[in-house]
Amino acid sequence: LVSRKRKPEDTVVHVGDLPVGNEQKTVIAGPCSVESEEQVREVAQALSKQGVALLRGGAFKPRTSPYDFQGLGVEGLRILRRVADEFGMKVISEIVNPSDIEKAEQYIDVVQIGARNMQNFELLKAAGSSQLPVFLKRGMSATVEEFLFAAEYIVSGGNDQVMLCERGIRTYEKWTRNTLDISAVPLLKQESHLPVFVDITHSTGRRDIQLPVAKAALAAGADGLMLEVHPDPAVALSDANQQINIPQFEAFMDEIRQHGRIQ
Ligand code: PEP
Ligand code: MN
Repeated sequence: LVSRKRKPEDTVVHVGDLPVGNEQKTVIAGPCSVESEEQVREVAQALSKQGVALLRGGAFKPRTSPYDFQGLGVEGLRILRRVADEFGMKVISEIVNPSDIEKAEQYIDVVQIGARNMQNFELLKAAGSSQLPVFLKRGMSATVEEFLFAAEYIVSGGNDQVMLCERGIRTYEKWTRNTLDISAVPLLKQESHLPVFVDITHSTGRRDIQLPVAKAALAAGADGLMLEVHPDPAVALSDANQQINIPQFEAFMDEIRQHGRIQ
């Protein structure tokens, strides 16, 4: 069902009244984790000034170590909803538990399925029966084919509002956190009709090359970008090394606007 052979025209995903996957490029930005209402508000204000309509933030954080910050849970979703409503933005947040998807519908506009859960089939099935669009991230060791089969689980469950996100895969290279598989972008666009995003934060794991990587993603045909922005990355409770601050985000947007119509 996700194959372009079955449906030649691009799928436009409707996040409320916001179309994603049309001729405009969509930026999804926000902090790695929701830490406080003030933190989210500071970021959201900066995003909305730049015309970004999709606010991200992790409330249920899948952390490698059980001793790391696990997120604020439902309270994090409430914060995102309140702040997004203030600025007329849409909310995207990761859900890790299939039984939380229905509950999350009252707080968020897009369900994110993270890399670690790309093949959590019960979660995919739950997302398939959700009313909300789904932002599906590629597993860090998943092939493009496995990624598309994961999307197929959601669409075959009755939810055709799926966005794909390349976020880097594991290789032996250590100078980036993951290796961005740029060729996955044209491959996914060719094989599937779903919108394709590139996460420039988790793929690189560093701030200094995010701009050229973003340009490459757009040049390769990505429909949008995901990136993490934090008021003070040095004190962030997760991903302190790679989130950019607000002035850096503003400079980033100024540059990236020259490479396509950005929403
Ligand atoms: C995220 O985007 O918050 C995240 C945890 O990314 P990933 O699932 O790609 O590691
Ligand atoms: Mn992160």
